[in-house]
Amino acid sequence: MFECDYKDGTWSNPTIKPFGPLSISPAAKVFHYGQAVFEGMKAYKDDNGKIWLFRPEDNFNRINKSSLRLAIPEFPKDFFFEGLETMLQLDNNWIKPGLGNSLYIRPFVIATQSGVSASPSEEYKFMILFSPAQAYYTGDVKVVIAEHYSRSADGGVGAAKAAGNYAAQFYPTNLAKEKGFHQVIWTDSNEHNYLEEAGTMNVFFRINDTLITAPISDRILDGITRRSVIALAKRDKISVEERRISISEIIEASNNGTLKEVFGSVTAAVISPVSDYSYKGDVYHLPKCPEGFAARFKKELTEIQYNLTEDEFGWRYLVE
Ligand SMILES: *Cc1c(COP(=O)(O)O)cnc(C)c1O
Repeated sequence: MFECDYKDGTWSNPTIKPFGPLSISPAAKVFHYGQAVFEGMKAYKDDNGKIWLFRPEDNFNRINKSSLRLAIPEFPKDFFFEGLETMLQLDNNWIKPGLGNSLYIRPFVIATQSGVSASPSEEYKFMILFSPAQAYYTGDVKVVIAEHYSRSADGGVGAAKAAGNYAAQFYPTNLAKEKGFHQVIWTDSNEHNYLEEAGTMNVFFRINDTLITAPISDRILDGITRRSVIALAKRDKISVEERRISISEIIEASNNGTLKEVFGSVTAAVISPVSDYSYKGDVYHLPKCPEGFAARFKKELTEIQYNLTEDEFGWRYLVE
């Protein structure tokens, strides 16, 4: 694991050491006030043993954006990349080649200063952990559209990858699971009328041949997979609309057969097709779409990530 501490106004002593427990004061602010942000990225290995990252600068920029919102000091870019790349070289054997195999990378920052006064910590720990991952088939994702609970609100922390955003999602997601669903589609917190994200994924709707997704705001996480799907779609002259999308629009499109696909986008699962969604007790089913946008973007993104195709956008990053 990679570890670097913030003290007396600077980040210093970046260190790589074997994975193991930390010794932290039980009064550390992270435990009491939740000052914690994280990132999720992956390393891929091609058939020649080369290690690749996918748009890692975007992850670096985003963790600092999240940190800013949580009053955590920014982490220096050279420490981030040097730490990450050195650790990838050391753990090279944990990255298996072959489509679907990857190394999941979890950078995060926690407030370590001891003291239960409600003020931002003056000490932090930045860390990176690795975990080998395999592609998993998410199966048919069944979602419930939120009528009561919210993931984020205007002016809140929804756009930050803050640990607490996940904690707040667990309870409503458990309620959905008790009813046989997997995830909640979050709606706007004012009216619960507009569709925003699916669980911990950005969400896309395909009506006829138009792709629609919620616009980035302070309620929506600016996903790198989302951004990449939009770029691929635009390149292929698929019409993409980043705009508010209402529940009634989706239900109407379901009823008249124009809603072709709904899918989530996130680094861990790449693209996750939704098979059913529920609203006010009614369940709407989406027919399978094996040749659809979801399958196509998943294939295209994966091929870029594993160095199996040309990288016309310059998204791949070689670890040397
Ligand atoms: C991380 C995350 C995403 C997806 O971001 P990617 O960069 O595509 O992995 C979407 N929504 C939420 C709430 C997230 O935390």
